[in-house]
Amino acid sequence: MAGRAVKTEAVVLRSMRYGEADRILHLYTPDRGRVSAIAKGVRRARSRFGGRLEPFFRLRIELHEGRSELLTVTGAQTVQGYPRLRGDVRALDGASRACDAVRRLFETSEPHPGVFNLLCRHLALLDERAGEAGGTSLGRAPALAFRLKLLLAAGLTPQLSACAACGEREHLVGFSGAAGGVVCAACEAGSFPLGQEAYAFMTEALGRPLIDAPGAPDRALGEVERAISATLEHHAHLRLMPAVGQWG
Ligand SMILES: [Zn+2]
Repeated sequence: MAGRAVKTEAVVLRSMRYGEADRILHLYTPDRGRVSAIAKGVRRARSRFGGRLEPFFRLRIELHEGRSELLTVTGAQTVQGYPRLRGDVRALDGASRACDAVRRLFETSEPHPGVFNLLCRHLALLDERAGEAGGTSLGRAPALAFRLKLLLAAGLTPQLSACAACGEREHLVGFSGAAGGVVCAACEAGSFPLGQEAYAFMTEALGRPLIDAPGAPDRALGEVERAISATLEHHAHLRLMPAVGQWG
């Protein structure tokens, strides 16, 4: 068949039934950004792909690229299946929200290898922490740290070091999505309050690896989530699902 073969690593972001036995996949790859592909016959019992074209699988995948934007899956090997994650409803929900955020914020073929690596690290952490009783290790704080790092990769990092409107470095009291960061008392019109703990969480989460993401009280995390949402709405016209669901 005409066209060319593409070999790449990929994380399955989404997998949708198509026709009698096929699936359409949204994949995130290090070098080609988001890719859509069709996997033919994958829902038949004896498919050679087995169950590995399901969401969150990290694969070494072979695709055929023809004239259509939809590539065809011709081979797939599992790099990581994250099996523990799949047995924990909170981890599964976290993985689903993380993949949805990547799918919607990075929907083009522009390569962002850092985003691929970030997503794999986040899935690995959810897998490692799956099954832990109670605790906050699967909760809102790590989910928001992940989102802040996505903002960084998308070039949408909120300005945190000085007032985003006037440059003042003291008396930073609010956050404004329109201004693109924290604002001072003189510029606070149209902003919402951002307390010291939320501010500290944002700067620390952006500066540390995902595995060392800080914690914060729930009220502060609420402010952080609001700041992330305001930034995405103003600068990417995007509204994501809440960072955690009812299990967070
Ligand atoms: Zn100001």
